[in-house]
Amino acid sequence: MSTGLFEVPPPINEPVRGYAPGSPERESLERRIQELAREPTEAPMFIGGREVRSGKTFEQPRPHRHREAAAIVHGAEAEHVSQAIEAALAVREEWASFPWEDRIAIFLRAADMVAGRWRDTMNAATIAGQSKSVHQAEIEAACELCDFLRFNAHFAEQIYRDQPISSDGIWNRLDYRPLEGFVLAVTPFNFTAIAANLPTAPAMLGNVVVWKPSEKQALSAHYFMEVLRACGLPDGVINLVHGDGAIAAGVATTHPEFAGLHFTGSASVLQDLWKKVGSNIGTYRNYPRIVAESGGKDFIVAHPSAEVESLIVALGRGAFEYQGQKCSAASRAYIPRSFWPRVEEGIRDLASEITMGDVEDLSSFMGAVIDGGAFGRHRDAIEQARADGLELIAGGGTDDSEGWFVEPTVLRTDDPRHDLMERELFGPILTVFVYDDAKWSETLELVDSTSPYGLTGAVFSRDRRAVREADRRLRYAAGNFYVNDKPTGAIVGQQPFGGARGSGTNDKAGSFMNLVRWISPRAIKETHEPALDWRYPHMG
Ligand code: NAD
Repeated sequence: MSTGLFEVPPPINEPVRGYAPGSPERESLERRIQELAREPTEAPMFIGGREVRSGKTFEQPRPHRHREAAAIVHGAEAEHVSQAIEAALAVREEWASFPWEDRIAIFLRAADMVAGRWRDTMNAATIAGQSKSVHQAEIEAACELCDFLRFNAHFAEQIYRDQPISSDGIWNRLDYRPLEGFVLAVTPFNFTAIAANLPTAPAMLGNVVVWKPSEKQALSAHYFMEVLRACGLPDGVINLVHGDGAIAAGVATTHPEFAGLHFTGSASVLQDLWKKVGSNIGTYRNYPRIVAESGGKDFIVAHPSAEVESLIVALGRGAFEYQGQKCSAASRAYIPRSFWPRVEEGIRDLASEITMGDVEDLSSFMGAVIDGGAFGRHRDAIEQARADGLELIAGGGTDDSEGWFVEPTVLRTDDPRHDLMERELFGPILTVFVYDDAKWSETLELVDSTSPYGLTGAVFSRDRRAVREADRRLRYAAGNFYVNDKPTGAIVGQQPFGGARGSGTNDKAGSFMNLVRWISPRAIKETHEPALDWRYPHMG
C-alpha cells in the first residue's frame, strides 16, 4: 500500500488527427473499417464481468447501407436488468472504499488505450454503426472520449482536495461519499463519447452503474466496454445491458437502491423517466439524483454588422455536420434582410458542394441519418414545409434506397413561429427567418421565446453593443452561447456543456459541476479536547 497526496497528471485535450489521403493513420483506420465490415460484431451484455447472451437479438444496421448489420445485439429482458443491478450492488462497498487514485488510474489507462491501440476500433465502430464521417468520429469517439476521462479525473481530484476550514482544537473534514445505491446511465445514439462519459463519470467517483446504451450505438458501446475490461475495471462496477430503454428503466426505477439517473436523450423520454422516478419516490432509500441532458432547437442570430463569410461557414458546419444530429446543431437562423441575398447564395453553394455518401469511404463530409424513423421524420418535415409554402433554398431531396440519406436542406419561412422554427427535428434541416434590419431587439425577443429549449445558440456581429444586447437578452436561451462561432463543437475543459429549460438540468458534462452530483458528502468534525463543563460563561 502506498501513501501520499497524489496528483493527477494535468489533462490536455487529445490532439485531433487529420486522416489525409496517404497518411499512415488513414491506412490503419481503413484496415480496421474493412475488418469490421467482414461480418457483424456480436454484442453481448456484460453483467458482473460475465458476457451474457439473452438470445433475444436485434440488428444494429449501418445507416448508410441499411440492409447490412453492423452488430447483432443481445437485448435485455427484465431479469437481466435485475441481474445487472444485483451485480453492481454486490461490489458497491468494495468499490466505494477503493482508494481514489486506484479508481482514477483505471480510467486514465482507459483514456490512453482509446488514444492509442483502441483508437481505430472506436472510430471504425462509430463510423460503421452511427454513420459518422471520419472527422466527426475522430473528434468525439477518440478525442472527446479521452478528454472526458482525463478531465474528469482532474476534476475529481480537485473536488477531493476541497476541504473545509478548521478552528482551534478542531479538525473538520469532508468525506466525499459516492451515492448509496446504484446509478442508471441511459445514453443516446449520437455521441460515443457521451455514451462513455455517462457511466464512467459516476463510477470514477466510486459509484456502481447499470449502463443502457442506445440500440443505435450498441457497436461502439460494446467496444468501449471491452476497453474498460482490458484496463482492469473490476467486474460489476459498470454493467452493460442492451435493448429497450423502457424495460431497463422499469426495473431500475422501481428498485429501492436506485440512487441516480444519468441520462442524455430526447425530452419526451426524459420526462417519461422523471415521472417514473416521481411516482416511485416513496420506495427509495435516498432521493435519487437526476442529471439529464436533452434536446435543443439551437439558433444562429446575425446582426446587420456580421461578417457574412464566417456566418455562412458557421451555418453550414453548424447545421449539417453529422447530418444535423448533434444536440447543439443549428436548426433555426435569423438573418437581416440587408445581406440575406449574399447568405442565400453562399449557403446554397455550400450545400451543393457537400459530399454525402457511404462514410466508410473516408472522403464523405456527410453520411446517412440514423434510422428509418429519423428518415421518415425529415422527409415529412420537408413535405410539410412545401405544403406550408416555405421557400426551398437548398437541398430537399431524400433517398432511402441504399442508406437513409437526407440532403442538407435550407428552408425559408416568413412565419418566425412556424413549427420548423420550434420543433427539434434532429436532422440536416435549417430553417431561416429573414428580419428587417431595424428590428434587432424584437428579433432577439423572438429567438428567446420561440422554442422550449435552451441548449446552444450563436450571435454573429462586429458591433460590440449588439453583442452585449444579445448576451443580455439571450442569457437563458442557451447554456452554451457562442459569439462569432458556430453553436456546435464544445470541447471538454474549455466549454462545459449543457442547457436548461427543456434541454435538461444543465449539470455541465465534463466539468466538476457534473461530478459533484455523484457524491453525497459527509462532514466530519473531530474535536481534540472535548468540553468538560456544560455551563456557558454568560451564566456566571
Ligand atoms: P432517445 O431519447 O430516443 O434515446 C435515448 C436513450 O433512451 C436510448 O438509450 C434509448 O434506448 C432510451 N429510451 C428510449 N425510450 C425509453 C423509455 N421509454 N424509457 C427509458 N429509456 C428509453 O434519444 P436519441 O435519439 O438516442 O438521441 C437524440 C436526442 O438526444 C436528441 O433529442 C438530442 O438533442 C439529445 N441529445 C442531447 C444532448 C445534450 O447534451 N443536451 C447530447 C446528445 C443528444
